[in-house]
Amino acid sequence: PAAQPIRETASICCYCGTGCGLRIRSQGQQVLEVIGDTEHPSNRGALCSKGHQLAATVRHDHSRILQAQWRREKNIPRHNIPLEDACDIAASKLAETMVMHGPDAIGFYLSGQLLTEDYAVFNKLARALVGTNNIDTNSRLCMSSAVSGYIKTLGADAPPACYDDLELANTVMIAGSNLAYAHPVLFQRLARAKEQRPAMKVIVIDPRRTDTCDIADLHLAITPGSDVALFHAMLNVMVWEDLIDRDYIAHHTEGFARLKQRIHEFTPQAAQEVCGVPAADIIQCARWFGQAGAALSLYTMGLNQSSSGTAKNAALIHLHLATGQIGKPGAGPFSLTGQPNAMGGREAGGMATLLPGHRSPDNAAHRAEVAKLWQVDALPATPGHTALDMFDAVLRGEIKVLWIAATNPAQSLPDQSRVRAALQKAELVIVQEAFANTETLAFADLVLPAATWPEKEGTVTNSERRISRVRAAIAPPGDAQADWRLVCTIARKLAARIAPEKVRLFNYGDEADIFAEHARSTAGRDLDYSALDYAALQAYGPQQWPYNAATQSPQRLYVNAMFPTDSGRARFMDVGYVPVAEKNSAAYPLRLTTGRMRDQWHTMSRSGLVPALNRHVEEPFVYLHPGDMRRQNIVDDTLVRIKTKRGALILPAMGDDGLKPGHAFLHMHWGSAYVAGDGINVLANSARDPVSHQPELKHSAAGLETF
Ligand code: SF4
Repeated sequence: PAAQPIRETASICCYCGTGCGLRIRSQGQQVLEVIGDTEHPSNRGALCSKGHQLAATVRHDHSRILQAQWRREKNIPRHNIPLEDACDIAASKLAETMVMHGPDAIGFYLSGQLLTEDYAVFNKLARALVGTNNIDTNSRLCMSSAVSGYIKTLGADAPPACYDDLELANTVMIAGSNLAYAHPVLFQRLARAKEQRPAMKVIVIDPRRTDTCDIADLHLAITPGSDVALFHAMLNVMVWEDLIDRDYIAHHTEGFARLKQRIHEFTPQAAQEVCGVPAADIIQCARWFGQAGAALSLYTMGLNQSSSGTAKNAALIHLHLATGQIGKPGAGPFSLTGQPNAMGGREAGGMATLLPGHRSPDNAAHRAEVAKLWQVDALPATPGHTALDMFDAVLRGEIKVLWIAATNPAQSLPDQSRVRAALQKAELVIVQEAFANTETLAFADLVLPAATWPEKEGTVTNSERRISRVRAAIAPPGDAQADWRLVCTIARKLAARIAPEKVRLFNYGDEADIFAEHARSTAGRDLDYSALDYAALQAYGPQQWPYNAATQSPQRLYVNAMFPTDSGRARFMDVGYVPVAEKNSAAYPLRLTTGRMRDQWHTMSRSGLVPALNRHVEEPFVYLHPGDMRRQNIVDDTLVRIKTKRGALILPAMGDDGLKPGHAFLHMHWGSAYVAGDGINVLANSARDPVSHQPELKHSAAGLETF
């Protein structure tokens, strides 16, 4: 209406971990336009295609869940119910389950889409009230190998670099990332830096030639899963050619002598066999890295979504430690977070393997510290199930109730048949969701209507440890509420049934109260942002952690080469090369990998609503090497059957000369709404990294059949 004023609200993009600042122009309940925020230090006004189209995703129609829904029995339709009734049902079912089967019969599966405040209250509900560590998130599919890689080598889950390093680096090594599509604003920034300073070397390590390779001086199209062999061979060259920093190694690290023995066998010639790239390219890559003075590594799912993800991360970090290229301008290992707030979730301890403030539930002292902060007697010591293990526990009948929030496991998890069987078997599936089109809703017994961007207040942390305020521009539609409000309502109702003295744990006035409690939990820890609050974020803008009385918003960590380990030294891990979990065979000769589309986000529940975003790639294909297609008399659009040991899909084929012979590629986004069957992850492998428990979504052995 013309009478209503036009407002401008500073907030953050809800898609990737770049965490771009934006401004939302709204009038009443209508979002008119979204533009980049020139004052946000992480993007300085730039947005990618997804960010530019955010206004078009704001719909309050049938695409949204506007009311709570419930069904008393499986396989009958759900009906709308008042939200208060839905919260009562949730509380009474949780209480019933706890009494009959114990707290570990309940599992929470959350999302990197949630804000830090949402995570904080979910975590408190699971641990302090229900009494289970069965709380994990889709971040397990995203960054958990980066987390374990950092902890094993540097001592803490803390990305040491910052976005300004993109302009300051002399060599940028992009490993297992299609940066151009996954973090487009960072790619554009790097491309500009390379244009202005052509002497900067850009290396891309990816089995497939992607658009990121457009700015590369060298592309190493390695065999999927062979990253550790490549990084070890690079280190071998650096040692041989004396490109390492012996002083840094001697004074600031431990474990190098053992690793040096290990890498002895990884000559460039040996790695050539394993990695499928010329030894000369490996040597060149090592020299550009070792001689850079400032080498920056950018990496994401190609390293993380692997059954040896922790080893891959560690082997990459070794290159920085061995050359002393960390904690300096333009230098360091820099994991780029997939989701907008996977970092904040880790800080709030919203994972089975974490407690608030980067603490561990395995550590009795850490449990006691958090119990004291939350003013409860104790926290549970029984290890919780990580993402896929949680669904396996449902199949075994151990977990009876699954509470899923802001994520779509019936599309995004690997080995879909198994995941869907678990969702079918669970006695109660609660789905807290904003969008009405997710595959997981088909399995929901109780649906809670959630608010979403741009209806929520809170904070997120992006890849460079920067905490920003997310602000609401409009009110949630229908009965939808902020996730933390839904959680607190149900938690209070549950506490009233099982432990009335704990109702007070969930009496927050607003998001600022939750953040204040959460920030206190970080005091004395590596990330310590105990001096940060909403007032400071409002006054001084987004801030990088740590942020406390002694240190405020450092761009880089480890500038003094002191590491948060027992000895204060960084650690070289004695990691070996382990091939991908699934070997090729006569029936499954293809190496199947997956990746992103430029204009879509995850399972497309939001981005799929926008026609402009659907134009770049309009339908799913299985991409194959043109030579492989010719040999099998396949042309573009020929229907083929692609299969793995877990399932099969019928899709049109499309030639891609960016693939090596014997490789196939699928975009990760297509769910069962677009692909007949259970979506593309019916094919994906659920083999997990033994440390991070992250599944090997990036590689399966596949077979192809024609008709
Ligand atoms: Fe949003 Fe990421 Fe694009 Fe920035 S780069 S606008 S955060 S999707």
